[in-house]
Amino acid sequence: MKKYSAFAVVREALRGHKGWEKQWVSPEPKKAYDVIIVGGGGHGLGAAYYLAKEHGITNVAVIEKGWLGGGNTGRNTTIIRSNYLYEESMDIYEHSLKLWENLSQDLNYNVMYSPRGVMMLSHNTHDKQSFTRHINANRLYGIDNEWLTPEQAKAYCPPLDISATARYPLNGAALQRRGGTARHDAVAWGYARAAHDRGVHIIQNCQVTGIARGPDGAVTGVETTRGFIGAKKIGVSASGHNTQIMAMADVRVPLVSNPLQALVSEPLKPIFPCVVMSNTVHAYISQSDKGELVIGAGTDQYVSYSQTGGIQIIEHTLDAICELFPIFRRVKMMRQWGGITDNTPDRSAIQSKTPVPGLYVNCGWGTGGFKATPGSANLFAHLIARNEPHRLAAGLTLDRFRTGRLIDEAAAAAVAH
Ligand SMILES: Cc1cc2nc3c(=O)[nH]c(=O)nc-3n(C[C@H](O)[C@H](O)[C@H](O)COP(=O)(O)OP(=O)(O)OC[C@H]3O[C@@H](n4cnc5c(N)ncnc54)[C@H](O)[C@@H]3O)c2cc1C
Repeated sequence: MKKYSAFAVVREALRGHKGWEKQWVSPEPKKAYDVIIVGGGGHGLGAAYYLAKEHGITNVAVIEKGWLGGGNTGRNTTIIRSNYLYEESMDIYEHSLKLWENLSQDLNYNVMYSPRGVMMLSHNTHDKQSFTRHINANRLYGIDNEWLTPEQAKAYCPPLDISATARYPLNGAALQRRGGTARHDAVAWGYARAAHDRGVHIIQNCQVTGIARGPDGAVTGVETTRGFIGAKKIGVSASGHNTQIMAMADVRVPLVSNPLQALVSEPLKPIFPCVVMSNTVHAYISQSDKGELVIGAGTDQYVSYSQTGGIQIIEHTLDAICELFPIFRRVKMMRQWGGITDNTPDRSAIQSKTPVPGLYVNCGWGTGGFKATPGSANLFAHLIARNEPHRLAAGLTLDRFRTGRLIDEAAAAAVAH
């Protein structure tokens, strides 16, 4: 595949853009593959890419029921950070952050990773104690995170109101400078293009409807809306639909699916330089490169497979944003949408073998798995290729729900992104 470069852009501009190749093709499925990945989001496409790149396994298909990135990958608010509390989480999120830093070069695709800083506002003593605990844990582990006074916070993010008369006064903030954002669908497209380039088949509009098993109980392939496709190994990475797909192989996973929504404003001139989250007031905000304010909050509290979400959540979120940033009170909101998130009891992900030989699951990323995309994909490929978890993901297996060794990240951000 031709490399993207400044030279290529100029060359194509001069010849009417006739020389661009398709980024990936959509082939007819083969009869069988060595590995099938179910789910064409960033995690699934990334796993296929790393299977080919790092493990030499290229006879791979990614099977997606809709279009690439049409799940949570293309619906999230793109916050990236690694300042989680427990070692198991810091391991995987920091591994991911390091991959983000070079991802555009690695994929030869601009994923627009922008380390503009993620700031978490502290409004009371409890916030301060909790953030200080995170900062200390992170720094002991070699991860950047720092405490800012209200004045330092305002210098970093001028729209902040730090006056004593503010509706929710600040007593400081935690800042991870290497945190930031990236362009979500470019991540799916970049991985798809790079995986296709290494021989991976990307099959869209093909829903997995069953998992077939042989007499020994091991997987033999998947039933799909386009017929049976054989596979020696199957990796499931289907976010809000993971429980349904695992149930096809009689495997129960400890997940509930909740809608999570977000919204964007009309485009504004550049005004908001970083990502700001308030766990207490329960909202977060950043500004996209197109100028839209990108706003989100917590999940709907009921189980659902609808990609919308309740109106009261949007109202609460916008209340919170207007209280925190009165200057945005008259900004118009342009679009709202939802995604289906898969949440575990301890709000940490699962990456694991299952009781079914040849069946692997990557799930439970819930409301915060976009930031994990490169790291999770990279380690999921390792698990599938080697049939054992990578050291950095060893704590994320299903066993923790049997042993009780949970990784309680529920408070990593009350708004868990
Ligand atoms: C509104 C919102 C905001 C968020 N904000 C953030 C954030 O700021 N930062 C952050 O880190 N994370 C955030 N997240 C979470 C993040 O989006 C997800 O954790 C992550 O994108 C999951 O990626 P994935 O590849 O696992 O899943 P997905 O991108 O959802 O991909 C799974 C794919 O599986 C496909 N699929 C399902 N069933 C089948 C089937 N039977 N057959 C074939 N294919 C199937 C789906 O169509 C889908 O495309 C947010 C999520 C939402 C919804």
